[in-house]
Amino acid sequence: MRVARGLALRWMAGAGATLGEAVVDDAFARDDVLVRVRVAGICRTDLFVAEGLLEARDGVVLGHELCGVVEAVGRDVDDLALGVRVTAHPYVRCGGCVACEADRPGACERRQQLGVHRDGAFATWVKLPRSALHILPMHLDERAGAFVEPVAAALGVLDAPIDRSSRGAVWGTHRVARLMASVLAASGFDRVELVDAASPRVAPSTFDFIVEATPTEEAMKDMLSAVRPLGCIVLKSRPPKAIALDFARAVEREVTLRAVRYGSFEDAIALLARGALATDELFGSVHPLARFADAFAEARAEERKIFLAPEGT
Ligand SMILES: [Zn+2]
Ligand SMILES: [Zn+2]
Repeated sequence: MRVARGLALRWMAGAGATLGEAVVDDAFARDDVLVRVRVAGICRTDLFVAEGLLEARDGVVLGHELCGVVEAVGRDVDDLALGVRVTAHPYVRCGGCVACEADRPGACERRQQLGVHRDGAFATWVKLPRSALHILPMHLDERAGAFVEPVAAALGVLDAPIDRSSRGAVWGTHRVARLMASVLAASGFDRVELVDAASPRVAPSTFDFIVEATPTEEAMKDMLSAVRPLGCIVLKSRPPKAIALDFARAVEREVTLRAVRYGSFEDAIALLARGALATDELFGSVHPLARFADAFAEARAEERKIFLAPEGT
């Protein structure tokens, strides 16, 4: 068995995020694909794991937002040429549950999350099943390739019962909130505004729908007032701790609360490929993997997306 070695950023209990070795062998499952990582984005999930706020497998390689190149494939993979660029769905599906049958791996209860349960993208290589991969156009900027996952997450909002002509808000003004507003605008919603969750100043019953981007009890209370009766609040965040909800208020106004996770990865790729999102404003710097500590510090402070490049830029 041949073994190749490279760099990997691992989460080690007690030591936090630590630079280690990526070791890949050529023992492929039939549907495995070996991807050489070109660029990987740092997500809040990675920061939560690195800070010990989110439980992860000890020794797991962090990272789930990637743009890479197919380097080797298992026997059953016949639709991916070597050298093709790919990105990944961060949830590797079980393939047999209700969510997987509905092609919604985001809601699979037996999913293996990249960078949490199974080795992720902050490494020279990552091995993934074919079903988790999406092909990227060759002309797409590598950072945009690694940004497909956040865009697909924002596109999840379109699964909620909301109307393009109705008046909407995204509750928050941070990076993810702004991304959701841009994705909605690029998808034909032209009456959506950003609301500063810290000081909302919104009259009651102003909006037909609100996309939650600030998961706090205070914000939930404000949103239940700002949405009109029979309106919709789209729940989008996954706060590490539970927050309270004013049931009576929601019931009295017959508000629809709809939780969404991921939209279509193909649609996300198409949006990025046609330049529909102002990525210049969204993308920050790219760091080599060895400088992960600086990159993580920047990702905590910076509003733009920070990237790691395992092989340098
Ligand atoms: Zn992410
Ligand atoms: Zn499943």
